Amino acid sequence: MPDIVVVGSLNLDVTVPLDTLPGLGQTVLGGDHLRGGGGKGGNQAVAAARLGRSVAMVAAVGADAEGDRLLDILAAEGVDTTAVLRATRPTGQALVLVTADGDSTIVVSPGANMWLAPEHLRPVAGVLSGARCLLLQHEISAPTVAAAVAAATGLVVLNPAPARPVDPAVLARVDVLVPNRGELAALVGVPVPEQVRLDELAGMARALGVRGQVVVTLGADGAVVVDADGYTLVPARPVRAVDATAAGDSFCAALADGLLAGQPIVEAARWATRVAAVTVTRPGAMDSLPHRAEV
Ligand code: ADP
Repeated sequence: MPDIVVVGSLNLDVTVPLDTLPGLGQTVLGGDHLRGGGGKGGNQAVAAARLGRSVAMVAAVGADAEGDRLLDILAAEGVDTTAVLRATRPTGQALVLVTADGDSTIVVSPGANMWLAPEHLRPVAGVLSGARCLLLQHEISAPTVAAAVAAATGLVVLNPAPARPVDPAVLARVDVLVPNRGELAALVGVPVPEQVRLDELAGMARALGVRGQVVVTLGADGAVVVDADGYTLVPARPVRAVDATAAGDSFCAALADGLLAGQPIVEAARWATRVAAVTVTRPGAMDSLPHRAEV
C-alpha cells in the first residue's frame, strides 16, 4: 500500500512567454512554448514522490498522446499509475501565458479530469482505504472528491483549490484543510480580506467545521496553522522568488510528508514552507519541485 494516494488532476501545461498579455480580440506573437507535466493532483503526487514517499495516483487522462506523455512523466518519478484511467474526453491541458515580469493568464481545459466520476473509484477502493494519507484538490468533480473522502481510512488532506463550495460532510472528515487566503474567503462566503489579520483568518477557518486543523497559506508571508485552541504563524523562508507555480502544491505534499513522519502540525508546516521556498526559486510546475536532498 502506498504512503500517499492522490486523487486529482493531471494536465499537460503549455507555457508561452510573451512581452504583453493579449487583450480582448487581440493576437500576439510569443516566444517558443514549453510543455511540461502539471495539474494540481500530478504536481502534488510528484512533489511527494520527490520527498521520498511511495505515491499512487488516481486520475484520468485522455486516450491521446498528451495522456501517454503524462503517464510517462509520472512513471519516471516513481508514481504508481495503475489507477490512472483513460477517459473518453481529451487529456486536461493548461495554456499558460507569462510575461517577463511574471504576470500570467492561464486557461485550463480540464477534459478527462472532470470525466473522473465516483463509480471509477470503486475498483480502487482498496488503495483509497489502505493508503496512510489521501491527498485531494478541486480540479476534479466535487462528487468524486466526496466519494474518495468517504472511502479513506487514513489521514485526509484537502487543498480546496480552485475555490468552490465544499459539502459540510466532507469538511467534517478532513483532517487538514489547506486553503490559501482567497480559497478560505470563498469557502466562508466573504470577500478576501484586504489585510492579513491572523485572528480574523483563524476565526474564518474555525467556522468551517473541519475535523482537524486548517493551514492557511499566505504566499511570501508563510502560513498560519489554526486549530480549536489557537493559531500559529509559520513564516516563509526568505528567498528570491522567480515563479510561484506549484508552490501551494509542494506545500501540501510536504505537509502530508511531515505528518506521516509523525511531526506535529506546526513542525510539518515549517517543513512545508522550506520545501515550497525551493519551489518558488525555480520556473515551471512539476519541473520546479525539489527532491528531499535539495531542501
Ligand atoms: P498558492 O500558490 O496555492 O496560492 P501560496 O501562494 O500561499 O499558495 O504559497 C504556498 C506556500 O509557498 C506559502 O505558504 C509559502 O510557504 C511558499 N511561498 C509562496 N510564495 C513565496 C515566496 N515569495 N517566498 C517564499 N515562500 C513562498
